[in-house]
Amino acid sequence: MYIVFIGPPGAGKGTQSRRLIQYLGIPHLSTGEMLRQTKHSSDGRSAASFMDRGRLVPDQMVLDIVRTRLADPDCGRGCLFDGFPRTTEQAKALDQELQDRGAKVDLALELRVDEQELLDRIAKRATVENRDDDEVATLQERLRVYASQTAPIVNYYRATGNLATVNGLGSPEEVFERIRAEVDARGRRAG
Ligand code: AMP
Repeated sequence: MYIVFIGPPGAGKGTQSRRLIQYLGIPHLSTGEMLRQTKHSSDGRSAASFMDRGRLVPDQMVLDIVRTRLADPDCGRGCLFDGFPRTTEQAKALDQELQDRGAKVDLALELRVDEQELLDRIAKRATVENRDDDEVATLQERLRVYASQTAPIVNYYRATGNLATVNGLGSPEEVFERIRAEVDARGRRAG
């Protein structure tokens, strides 16, 4: 099963991703992680200049990394895309890439958390973890970028009929139960 996991920064996507890959036994493709791993190369330094400001790394760089990883044999039967796609261009490129492999996005999971709730969480974390103003500003910028560039892909997947929206409020266990219900429903339908 190929799953796309969509959600704003701070919604708890990291925690839920870990549970989901364990539940399904599929690899975790986090483009944020993969980009951080390239930080010692010149591409990686260029990526870091975007990441440090809360901006998106250019599509081409992200797509190159994803294509290379998708060619690995462990991705042959599915994977969880975490933090990817983040633009409609990336979503279209992913569709093409999977189609070339005789596959498709089976489920796009949107983890929905109210924006004000996220801003409150950021403010709270900033106090508890004693983060500096730069970090807080970057988090706020990431939220703005999510709303303008990434949220539109929800409509893209709604149009394909493969979108499931899950309420991200509640304990990690409660949220995971909602996710599991959606995955089970689609998994059964997919065969
Ligand atoms: P994440 O770990 O998913 O929160 O990603 C951290 C940062 O990496 C983001 O704020 C972006 O700067 C960059 N990044 C991760 N995934 C993508 C992507 N699919 N497209 C563009 N930039 C990305």
